[in-house]
Amino acid sequence: MKRPSILVLGAGYGGLTTVVNLQKIMGTDEVDITLINKNEYHYESTWLHEAAAGTMTPEQVRYDIKEVIDPVKVRFVQATVEAIDVAGKKVLTDNGEFTYDYIVIALGFEGETFGIEGLDKYALSIANVKAARYIREHIEFQFATWSAEEVKDDSRLNIVVGGAGFTGIEFLGELANRVPELCKEFDVPREKVRVICVEAAPMVLPGFDPELVNYAVGHLESKGIEFSIGTPVVEATPEGVNIKKSDDEFEFIKAGTVVWAAGVRGNRLIETTPIENMRARVKVEKDLRAPAFPDVFIIGDCALMINEETNRPYPPTAQIAMQQAEAAAANIKALIQGQTTQEFIPDLKGTVCSLGDDDAIGVVFGKKVTGKRASFMKKMIDNRALYMVGGPKLVIKKGKFNVL
Ligand code: FAD
Repeated sequence: MKRPSILVLGAGYGGLTTVVNLQKIMGTDEVDITLINKNEYHYESTWLHEAAAGTMTPEQVRYDIKEVIDPVKVRFVQATVEAIDVAGKKVLTDNGEFTYDYIVIALGFEGETFGIEGLDKYALSIANVKAARYIREHIEFQFATWSAEEVKDDSRLNIVVGGAGFTGIEFLGELANRVPELCKEFDVPREKVRVICVEAAPMVLPGFDPELVNYAVGHLESKGIEFSIGTPVVEATPEGVNIKKSDDEFEFIKAGTVVWAAGVRGNRLIETTPIENMRARVKVEKDLRAPAFPDVFIIGDCALMINEETNRPYPPTAQIAMQQAEAAAANIKALIQGQTTQEFIPDLKGTVCSLGDDDAIGVVFGKKVTGKRASFMKKMIDNRALYMVGGPKLVIKKGKFNVL
């Protein structure tokens, strides 16, 4: 009898954790498992702001997928998914067509520009490891050019970061430490460089404890970061961004670098399927299956789940993606063995937002933490994610041990 086939799309936190769990809980002769990913490597999306600022190299944030999968149990195919045919149960890629009995869609996030003019074209986005490397090199290029040019254009040293949410603040934290290094390397006086965070909402880090938000803003301001809050970006151009300060007042900020970190959506491939979705995110059933498609599991940033306590969606996080992956693997096993699936209930342990390598804020197990203690916890969270996928070997190879 033909063995059931499981196709996992994407080797980010969700996809790779699914495969690692499946290879643990399923026997070699029980199923055929195929993992498809665009690159031969996995990257830690939660470290991308470090690669983008240049406080880490792109090499440090990624590792070879083959290091953590068992080739006897899992077939890895490097390919870009081009279409998902959920009615025909097949997937089209640039490296062939694949059929499945069960599929796990874990294709991650894309930047959301909310239709703001020019952002798609002129702003950079911390979307993946290549985009992060591009941002790092773009900023270095601006510094090198300023240093070499006869008639100096100071605005090329301005860096605008759109969005004071989690990603924006973590990126600003890295920039706060990186800018003085860049100034030294490229002979640029520090006072020439402006790093400006522009946020449409009336607050920084919405949803975070106000005391922690004040700590974060104070820390970043003390390192020269400027904040323009309640001032939406209305347009991006090759020269910078236009922001709305009040009903009839606009300000143009000239900048050599604009990084958009103000929102994410699911992968656009979801929108090409008949599965009901909102900005490429699917409101999944309690067992993580797509409504009306019982062979399709959707996890990570392509999935949307409502927190019944707050009646708001859970924010898309690596923490939830990894927990969903474990649950999806167990539910697929249950279906194959003729058992019933289990409801997925997130077990949120807390959130820590880094402010560079040496500071952070967060709430862990219900307790507020700041400073070096929070920074230490952030590194332990990062190391734990590595451990869950690749065990102690991967932690030793890629872990963060620069504890201050
Ligand atoms: P991803 O991890 O993004 O993986 C998606 C995978 O799919 C990638 O490997 C990609 O290459 C692949 N892929 C995409 N399209 C295709 C295609 N067409 N064909 C083949 N493969 C494809 N969360 C936290 O919990 N804590 C944090 O501190 C935190 N910090 C963050 C900081 C930054 C800068 C960013 C950007 C995000 C942060 N997040 C954090 C959010 C977290 O990274 C995401 O929620 C998480 O990565 C989602 O996991 P995923 O598996 O859905 O997607």
